[in-house]
Amino acid sequence: MTKGNNIKVILLGLPGSGKGTLADFLKKKYDLFHLATGNLLRAAIQNNTPLGKEAEGYMKKGELVPDNLIINLVKEEITKGGKDGGFILDGFPRNIIQAEKLDKMFEEVGQSVDMALEIIVPEEILIQRLTGRRTCAKCGALYNIHFSPPDVENVCNECQGELFVRNDDTVEVVDKRIDVYWKNISPVVEYYRTKNLLKEVNGGSSAGETAADVAKIIEELP
Ligand code: AMP
Repeated sequence: MTKGNNIKVILLGLPGSGKGTLADFLKKKYDLFHLATGNLLRAAIQNNTPLGKEAEGYMKKGELVPDNLIINLVKEEITKGGKDGGFILDGFPRNIIQAEKLDKMFEEVGQSVDMALEIIVPEEILIQRLTGRRTCAKCGALYNIHFSPPDVENVCNECQGELFVRNDDTVEVVDKRIDVYWKNISPVVEYYRTKNLLKEVNGGSSAGETAADVAKIIEELP
């Protein structure tokens, strides 16, 4: 077992800051359980579950879904993920109520958060990343029309599936998501700073550089 295998890390960062890409790296390197609330909600919508039906309206508008829905979802997943192993929480907590609730959930099972990692990226880069994002409808491969376009416009290189824009990645909804993020997350950042758990990383360069910086931060944890 290497250092980092049991770590409980929270990823904080604006939509488009690269939380998903970094989570994939951490998951593989340290064998962590990746809990991404946005992905779970999108799957619930796709599967037409009661949770999906309730969440869809909020998500389309770029608003947060109600705390009780998301807290129950996280509780279920934390139990499923094997509470003794390491976790990456991606997209949760999004406000102070969720942060306090998370501490309680962990406390009940004798665990605690090891680090809250804030990924810092200039807003103009974020907007290009989000509004340029395209996903393959067939295999889920990700592209960006500005940074990593497909060989043929709107066609997946891997499986020739059609590419689509997530319905909350339009310019208007992205602006709203950024506003909602700042309003709710600033107290969360302060919450973890006060507990001496906050670390910051530059997410404006390449994914590889960010990953290397984060690996270094983890190796240096007490
Ligand atoms: P994300 O993929 O993390 O950007 O999340 C997409 C959307 O899902 C957000 O804009 C919210 O509507 C919803 N969502 C995800 N995580 C949460 C959360 N922890 N609390 C409330 N809403 C959330």
